[in-house]
Amino acid sequence: MTDSWDRHLVIGEEITPNKVAVRVDDRFFTVSRTVATQFQALVDGRVTTEQDATVQALHARFSLGQARILSDNLRSFLVPVAPTQQLFQQIRRGFVKLPLYTPGDHFVRQLRGRVITPLSTLLFALMSTATLVICAAKAPHLPMATSLNQFPLPTLIAVWALLTVTTFIHEFGHAVIAAHYGIQPRSMGVALFLLQPAGYVDVSNGWLSSRHHRIMVALGGFIFQMIPLFIASVAWLVTDQALLGLYCLSSIGIMVLNTVPLVRTDGYWILANFINEPNLLQQVTRAGLGVLRAPGSYLTLGVKPQIYAVTGLASIVYTLGMYLLGFGLLVSRLPMTAQRFALPVSAAALLIHAASQGLRRLPRRRPALRRERGTL
Ligand SMILES: [Zn+2]
Repeated sequence: MTDSWDRHLVIGEEITPNKVAVRVDDRFFTVSRTVATQFQALVDGRVTTEQDATVQALHARFSLGQARILSDNLRSFLVPVAPTQQLFQQIRRGFVKLPLYTPGDHFVRQLRGRVITPLSTLLFALMSTATLVICAAKAPHLPMATSLNQFPLPTLIAVWALLTVTTFIHEFGHAVIAAHYGIQPRSMGVALFLLQPAGYVDVSNGWLSSRHHRIMVALGGFIFQMIPLFIASVAWLVTDQALLGLYCLSSIGIMVLNTVPLVRTDGYWILANFINEPNLLQQVTRAGLGVLRAPGSYLTLGVKPQIYAVTGLASIVYTLGMYLLGFGLLVSRLPMTAQRFALPVSAAALLIHAASQGLRRLPRRRPALRRERGTL
């Protein structure tokens, strides 16, 4: 499941009397009804200048200067970003989306209320149990424990191709379960994660549906991923092909990684929805960085901030570890001469990147802007 990278602001539903949900990009806020009305006016283009009603409404909660900056900032979300600029942003994030299909009304109408039934639930339970039993029984006989090099290259390529196709089935699962609950996916297509193609489905429309529905949509990927896994595990049992075994264990491994809630995995969204904290990653990262800056402050925190801080630190370490692991694997596959250049070249690239980030921020000199976005 992919959260939307498009810049946009959506005014949501009333959460509690006079508190309204607002979404800016993939961040969620609750604001007063008055502020939301002003946001809506901005969205509708009825308020065109920063000085007007929006600033006045925001001024009730912020200083006049901050209200101006915030209003300005919100308006910038409404300016459409040029496709080339959008593509450039995506390349910088290492994640390029190529939308191929926007499901229409009929997609939802066909599936609404028809996917999760007692029969499909029973089938899923039987399939998962059979898959786990087969894989647990056969895994010890697969010669993978020592090294992947024991498999011939065509086998590895075939498994890679199967896993790539699996990502499309997984993503389609999110879309189907979303449609079951009447949520219309915004787009489906191919994503390039660095250079690895994968399916993607944008079901961010679902953020206004109930917590239970959102959790089920996040689970949809796992549910559909189980279908090819079940077929492959039965075929593995019958034919004893190492290729199938490698596929089954890799698919299970990917599922397990996809539950680790320290980065934006499906597991993360399930947890964030479960504890009803839509900005969980930002919150824990902020708490973690806070403790990093002032380690002594940790002891004075309450239990919940302590858990957040530890989770935030774990998330930072996990993310860095994943990057280093990926980098290490990539470099280890290079020839010796290229390996010798890999470290200085990547260090230089990192430096250039850091410098360009610093330069990009320098002329703006709007420190209040970032802070305000967080406390909106
Ligand atoms: Zn998923």
